[in-house]
Amino acid sequence: MTNKPTAMPFSELALAPATLANLDRLGYAVMTPIQAASLPIALAGHDLIAQAKTGSGKTAAFSLALLARLDARRFDVQAMVLCPTRELADQVTQEIRRLARAEENVKVLTLCGGTPMAPQTASLGHGAHIVVGTPGRIMDHLTRGSLTLSALNTLVLDEADRMLDMGFYDDIATVASQCPKERQTLLFSATYPEGIAKLSQRFLRSPKEVRLEERH
Ligand code: ADP
Ligand code: MG
Repeated sequence: MTNKPTAMPFSELALAPATLANLDRLGYAVMTPIQAASLPIALAGHDLIAQAKTGSGKTAAFSLALLARLDARRFDVQAMVLCPTRELADQVTQEIRRLARAEENVKVLTLCGGTPMAPQTASLGHGAHIVVGTPGRIMDHLTRGSLTLSALNTLVLDEADRMLDMGFYDDIATVASQCPKERQTLLFSATYPEGIAKLSQRFLRSPKEVRLEERH
């Protein structure tokens, strides 16, 4: 038996050649530990709870998973990422855009509060493949009918610990209740407070768990 190498290249994953070339271009040579632990599970279609400290590369982990399933020829919302703040939502949107294959023209929209509804509603009217936003604003769009989630196949709860800290549990519940039951749900968090188990019991189906740092 040989020792397992610690640095696993992205090429060991079932990713499209164009995606691998893109990762190369971005300078992502090998997977970070949370990517190596979570991507095979997410790409296999399982629900997932992934916990690893801030700065460990969680964004690319869920972004590559949702992009792998995206059918860019269909112009409807197939993936949604819920984030605690506008700043984090903007970062996630940028990372998804960088990881998306240029030739596919993947449209990612950021939907956060603190900006007028009208331009967001107009952008949604033109269509989007992926939406990234805060639970409150996403809920507003669902209530007004400007956002439809009937084609959604991937729901991501990013920075779930912070969303709970900020009191977003009920908003997350409302938004999740409007997502198709047949979907993949990926929960990413820097810490693992008690509320995470409650979230996952309610919104995830038989999730696999990857926890890189135990909290004592
Ligand atoms: P987290 O969400 O875990 O706090 P991020 O997803 O924001 O962390 O990633 C932190 C930084 O690491 C980002 O600048 C990102 O571009 C970079 N990064 C992510 N994955 C890799 C990789 N495989 N190789 C090199 N850099 C990476
Ligand atoms: Mg993050």
